[in-house]
Amino acid sequence: MSKAFNQFNQGYINEQGMWEEQASALETIVVSDPLVTLEVSELFPSLQGEGKFIGHPCIFLRLRRCNLACPMCDERHTWDKNDPGWNDYTLYETGKLAHEIDVKSQGHIRRLVVTGGEPIIWDRQLSDLFPKLVGWEFEIETNGTILPKHIEKFNVHYNVSPKLTSFHDNSRKTIVGRALGFFNQRTVDGRAIFKFVVTDKRDFDEIWNLTKEVGIAHEDVYIMPEGVDQITILSRLPWLFEECRQYGYNLTPRMHILAFGNKKGT
Ligand code: SF4
Repeated sequence: MSKAFNQFNQGYINEQGMWEEQASALETIVVSDPLVTLEVSELFPSLQGEGKFIGHPCIFLRLRRCNLACPMCDERHTWDKNDPGWNDYTLYETGKLAHEIDVKSQGHIRRLVVTGGEPIIWDRQLSDLFPKLVGWEFEIETNGTILPKHIEKFNVHYNVSPKLTSFHDNSRKTIVGRALGFFNQRTVDGRAIFKFVVTDKRDFDEIWNLTKEVGIAHEDVYIMPEGVDQITILSRLPWLFEECRQYGYNLTPRMHILAFGNKKGT
C-alpha cells in the first residue's frame, strides 16, 4: 500500500527525546513505504576527513533534513528549501541503497559514514539499511540533540558535534543535556566522541563548561577548526594546537578541505 510522505516535513522531538514525523499540508510525494525510504543528498566513496577515524576509507552517505538551522551551516541544501541545491537529491529504498553502497565500495570499503543534515531523524529507516550491510562499520555524524532508538542495536559509532554559541546562538535548541548524557555513556566502550567546531579562543571556555557539566572526558573531545577553505583552516591550526595541548583535547583538521577546498563529493 502506498503512503503519502511529506518531503518538507521537519518533524519534532517528542517527550522521550526521539524524532517524530509531523504531518503537514505542504507538498507530498508518494513512496511505497516511508519507513524504508531515505532522501539521499550525496553518496560517494572517500576518506573520513575528521575525528577519530580520520584517513579511513569510507562511503559517505549524506541525508536530507535537520532539526536545527545553524546560520553558519555549510550544508544548507540538506534542510533549507530556499537553497538552490534543495531539490538535488534521490529517493532510495533501503534495499536499492545497500546495493549502491556495495557497488561504490568496490568490495574493499567496509565503513559507512552517515551524515546530513541530522541523520538520526532517519533512525527508523537506517535500522532497515544497516542489517543489509553485513560486516560494515557505521559512523553517525550527529548534532547531539536527538536520542537514537532503532539503530542502537547495531555497532554504531557516534561523532557528536554539539553546536557552540559562535555557531548557533540558541543554546536552548542546540544543547540537549539528556541526549549529550546518552552519547557520553557511549564513550565508555569507545562508541562515541565529541567534536567541537571552533572559531574563536573564547569557544574553549564554553567547551570546558559543557564537558564539565555533562562529565565528558577530555580524551573524548576532538577540536576542529571552523572553515571551508584551506587558508582559514591552516591559519587556525597553530593556536588550536596550543589550546588543545593545554586542555588535553584531541585536534583534528578537516582533511578533505585541506586537500580539495570546499568541493562536493570529497
Ligand atoms: S546541525 Fe549541522 S546540518 Fe544541521 S543546520 Fe547545524 S550545521 Fe547544518
